[in-house]
Amino acid sequence: MNQFERGRGWIIAIDGPSGAGKSTVAKEIARRLGYLYIDTGAMYRAIGLKALQKNSRLDDTQQIITIACNSKLELKFFHGRSQVWLDGMDVTEAIRAEPVSQAASIVSSISEVRKVLVRTQQELGAAGSVVMEGRDIGTKVFPNADLKIFLDATERTRAQRRFEENRRKGAKSTLDETIAEIHERDQRDSLRSDSPLTQAADAVYIDTSGKSIGQVIQEILGLVQRLPGSEKTR
Ligand code: C5P
Repeated sequence: MNQFERGRGWIIAIDGPSGAGKSTVAKEIARRLGYLYIDTGAMYRAIGLKALQKNSRLDDTQQIITIACNSKLELKFFHGRSQVWLDGMDVTEAIRAEPVSQAASIVSSISEVRKVLVRTQQELGAAGSVVMEGRDIGTKVFPNADLKIFLDATERTRAQRRFEENRRKGAKSTLDETIAEIHERDQRDSLRSDSPLTQAADAVYIDTSGKSIGQVIQEILGLVQRLPGSEKTR
């Protein structure tokens, strides 16, 4: 069945560890196709941020669940840029701080939190014409996604990218600290019992180490073009 027979555009799932290039690639693919871009990591980050703001203990599962159930999360698009709003406040920048990355990874291991956010993600993507990035999109959120990509790169490459990104933003952490942070987060994301970071059996694996963003985007657009019925989109 193609996208026209089913009456909606494709659902494209992009998963992978931190620093593999998911956000840059997913955003650009969505822009080129005129699709909605959904960053699911931003949603876990918003819950992590709220927990930190409330000085909640991250191991207080009940309190974190209460936060997840009582938060108003909005993904907005403004002048071509995606924004994240939490309880009526723009937290687009705030959720990128390193302590929030770790907090997001901790709160995301709580099944009830995942249940709440996965439901929202499924609602957001149900209409199709969407590029959704995260850790469990192809395995859990949209196991029937039309195209699943698993983006990866060596740990060093991923840390180097994150280090340079942080430095551009004025953060002071060293490369070794960034490697340790990425390693800790990936271990936690891969070892948790609920929806661990793992490649879906039918996902296309792309190692982005040594490839430019442009190359990766072309590779994925090539896969989109080969989806059944895709020629009718142009
Ligand atoms: O993608 P990003 O690095 O912004 O995600 C932050 C954290 O949110 C990840 O380390 C992971 O623990 C969690 N996450 C998740 N499932 C997703 C997306 C993100 O558990 N679909």
